Amino acid sequence: MALTGLEIFKLLPKTNCKKCGRATCLAFAMQLAQKKAELKDCPDVSEEAKGILGAASAPPIKLVSIGAGDKQISVGEENVLFRHDEKFYNPTGVAVTLSDDLDDDAFSEKLNKINNLKFTRVGTEIEIDLVALLNNSGDGTRFAERAKQVSENTHLSIILESKSPENMKSAVETCSDKKPLICGANADNWEAMANIAKDKGCPMTVSASTLEELADLAEKIKGIGVTDIVLNQVSESTKDILQGLTIIRRAALKKAFRQLGYPALTYMPSYEPAQEIASASVFIAKYAGIVVVNAFEPWQIMPLLTVRQNIYTDPQKPVQVEPKLYEVGQVNENSPVLFTTNFSLTYYTVEGEVEASRIPAYILAVGTEGTSVLTAYSGDKLNEDVIAKAMSDANIEEKVKHKKLIVPGLVAILSAKIQEKTKWEALVGPKEASGLPTYLKSTWN
Ligand code: SF4
Repeated sequence: MALTGLEIFKLLPKTNCKKCGRATCLAFAMQLAQKKAELKDCPDVSEEAKGILGAASAPPIKLVSIGAGDKQISVGEENVLFRHDEKFYNPTGVAVTLSDDLDDDAFSEKLNKINNLKFTRVGTEIEIDLVALLNNSGDGTRFAERAKQVSENTHLSIILESKSPENMKSAVETCSDKKPLICGANADNWEAMANIAKDKGCPMTVSASTLEELADLAEKIKGIGVTDIVLNQVSESTKDILQGLTIIRRAALKKAFRQLGYPALTYMPSYEPAQEIASASVFIAKYAGIVVVNAFEPWQIMPLLTVRQNIYTDPQKPVQVEPKLYEVGQVNENSPVLFTTNFSLTYYTVEGEVEASRIPAYILAVGTEGTSVLTAYSGDKLNEDVIAKAMSDANIEEKVKHKKLIVPGLVAILSAKIQEKTKWEALVGPKEASGLPTYLKSTWN
């Protein structure tokens, strides 16, 4: 648990020597408590105090990295229960299962589909993170061959799932350079599995049906020397899994219960496809480090990645696009000119609808610090002066020969003022972006 400034002060030398750059030990202690200083700045702190302060400053939920290279993912190290209190830092890893008992063609086809589960949303590429190879065949040689095949044919990180330490050992040998997540340790095999993880420097999961057993096994595995641990509470019920994930997060953050201070992985119960994605979305919100789904169709995965993208944005920093003039399609001097704000979601919604209209157009993204149209208007960040300046900065008069500006219907009230300020004719567009295709086709043409 985090120590207070006074508790830290009691552990410092109290000589006020200023070598740390602070006037007094107390000032240093206060900054340390606020994470504005580092313990190493005090050269005279005792080894005993280093031990106590080091343990107290360790993150309550361990950061665990899986994979190597560009697609390595890190999960855990979260500080809050609710994202509005700070933000969530390390996005939930999304894994898709692949069984080693599929025939060659089906296996390659599914792996290929999994590799292509990537999408562009609000200007950002979103994709899954891991392939979870399941040893459903029970055969060690086949599991190892499939692990090698996955390793050589995916850019994603790998989860290997088997209850057999022998099979796991053979499979890890083929792809240990990719630092796969070793998955399948339980009360019966944890020691053998932990030795494989320790030997290969790989992270591992531990599974149990109760949190007490999970905490106990995690402590035993840590005792062997493996600290990159991921917890897996086994259940077939969404309610029980959600309850378990919440208790794990609360115990780590609120009670500093180190035995559960690890990220958690969740396998999806056997649900029909839509229910599977709905439940996985719940676990992304609260509080899975990794969700493993059987779904692999784009219509299933895209909503899941969209939920993750939304949950893991900083709620205090709106996602913005660069304020400037954007061209959609092959624009010319007769193309319509619309404006909106530089809030990403707003901009890309408008852009998508303009694309759907198939009428090339200019979209002026007016800089409003990433706020939406109505929010910007009510905060006086979107007014005739701001819009006129954005038009001037974009040299819009040199791009088109008409002088017509399409105003979002939500701020129709600004039309007269825009007209007066810019001497452009203000045309009131639809209130919702979804009305743009019809508006452009019927009104503009
Ligand atoms: Fe105190 Fe250490 Fe800073 Fe000296 S360097 S003032 S002993 S905290």
